[in-house]
Amino acid sequence: MSTQIDSSENNNSSKDIFRHKLEKKLQLRKDQNLFRKLNTLTFRQGPEIKIDGHDLINFCSNDYLGLANHPGIISAFRTGADQFGVGSGASSLVCGRSDLHQQLEEKLADKTGREAALIFPSGYMANLAVATTFTGRKDGVFLDRLAHASLIDAARLSGGKLYRYEHADPVALDLALKNSCMDMKLVLTDAVFSMDGDKAPIKELITVCKQNDAVLVVDDAHGFAVLGKKGGGLLEENEIPVEDVPILVATFGKALGTSGAFIAADKVIIETLIQFARTYIYTTALAPAIVGATLASLELVEKESWRRETLTTLIKHFCSGAEALGLNLLPSETAIQPLIIGDAESAVRISDKLFYEGFLVSAIRPPTVPEGSARLRITLTTSHTEEQIDRLLETLGKML
Ligand SMILES: *Cc1c(COP(=O)(O)O)cnc(C)c1O
Repeated sequence: MSTQIDSSENNNSSKDIFRHKLEKKLQLRKDQNLFRKLNTLTFRQGPEIKIDGHDLINFCSNDYLGLANHPGIISAFRTGADQFGVGSGASSLVCGRSDLHQQLEEKLADKTGREAALIFPSGYMANLAVATTFTGRKDGVFLDRLAHASLIDAARLSGGKLYRYEHADPVALDLALKNSCMDMKLVLTDAVFSMDGDKAPIKELITVCKQNDAVLVVDDAHGFAVLGKKGGGLLEENEIPVEDVPILVATFGKALGTSGAFIAADKVIIETLIQFARTYIYTTALAPAIVGATLASLELVEKESWRRETLTTLIKHFCSGAEALGLNLLPSETAIQPLIIGDAESAVRISDKLFYEGFLVSAIRPPTVPEGSARLRITLTTSHTEEQIDRLLETLGKML
């Protein structure tokens, strides 16, 4: 960039200097092809959406089971709003918690086979709560190298010593745990990795944690409601005993189609969160109508297993089509199907081209993913049709 700033120039007010710094930072972001643009929807989200007047088939939503627009859930949302109004009005400990919150927490505890559950306004906040409440300066927090940003921030904010182990590598975790002499050891992992779509080697991680007296926390944002016969997530799919994963985090904003999150654990852990988790205490409680909608969604998730079956069929359909075309997919069997491009510029160019061909597929670039692994993150949902997937594949086949 050619513009320069001389901070010693005294006709530059500090406000100008500040603004100039930001402009420089933004320009650098653009130069690196890392600049992000906001998309503005003009209609509800679903497999077909409209952005800036363009009709698009949406391949980047996390609404995996197609529940965000379900009439039964919308109706539960309305009922909740009629009963409790729109906003919760206060934090949970003051007067923001409704009996819908209580019902949902009991249902989630029951569903996950744990003693108790606690609702948070977002998964980001739930993860911050876990790390900051249970670990401090004398403790170690162990994170997969590809852990979600909210887990990384949580670990940083905890003040504990941060260890990153190689992605999905129990041997590397074991080594890191053995070499650490911190008091308490907390291992945080995604169940399904958000940008790669692969599943954590959960059984091996459990064994390693047991051998090293570490507490394992699983964030099942992308598996809950989608994996397992009844939608209990990765832990249900693998028949993991409750005591092997003492703390489970999952979110409502993905497959459940609403918004918010929960932590499920034993009563002592949940009570400790209520007393000490700052992201629980100092924030307005999730709106009761959202909670009511989530209750309805959870019921559908259990009852309508065809949603998971259809999704599985569509994932297989996509994968076999992509394989036939020789596309460079990561080995994922979940609804997250990343197509590796490499450099950020090409990823953006292809994503833009797809946009003009009628497909919304987001380019995921560093720092969200490691340098050189920019990708198209294609997500499939129950609401897609095979025909829509075929059209996407055909277009990708011509472009790549
Ligand atoms: C999306 C996501 C979160 C954040 O959840 P929000 O409710 O959107 O704040 C946390 N962890 C993982 C793995 C996620 O993918």
